[in-house]
Amino acid sequence: MSLAAPSSADFVAEICAEFPSFSIRKKRGAPLQNAIDVFLRVVTLGGMRTYLTNYHTVLFGTLWVPDHWDAMSELDKVILLRHERIHLRQRKRMGDVLMAFVYIFPIFPLGLAYGRARIEWEAYEETIRATIEFLGVDAARALKRGLIARFVGPDYGFMWPFPKMVARWFDEALERISKETR
Ligand SMILES: [Zn+2]
Repeated sequence: MSLAAPSSADFVAEICAEFPSFSIRKKRGAPLQNAIDVFLRVVTLGGMRTYLTNYHTVLFGTLWVPDHWDAMSELDKVILLRHERIHLRQRKRMGDVLMAFVYIFPIFPLGLAYGRARIEWEAYEETIRATIEFLGVDAARALKRGLIARFVGPDYGFMWPFPKMVARWFDEALERISKETR
């Protein structure tokens, strides 16, 4: 039995109650975001080309949204915001300096960014949890291939290039979360 999702505006209000300075801004046209786009293209040798069009990024408490944001359904926005709220809580827990250090700095060496992988594992568990709540376990199970590709591929700078290990994490997380939401 799936829950009805709140509207994305209601969920944003809920996030703002917890993080008063939270805001959503468009990446396109923001100078720093354009600079990050160029930087990512260079360090991933062109592998990461969708930073401005498809990727959502939390930076210093603001959610920077790509072109794709306007085309997303209400439900997809809420599921995404559930993931990003975890990053806001991590930032609160770790502080900006440590969060940036763990998240951005270990881009060197590309391919073994364990700190970044840990941060994303925690946030993607929330993606799995929200997907189970609103769409059911089968929909969550269908996320597996795409998630493995994200961890091992260029999207996050090849942060954890071990597909079997990511697959094991996914299976274990799905099993555990589907039990706790039952
Ligand atoms: Zn994330």
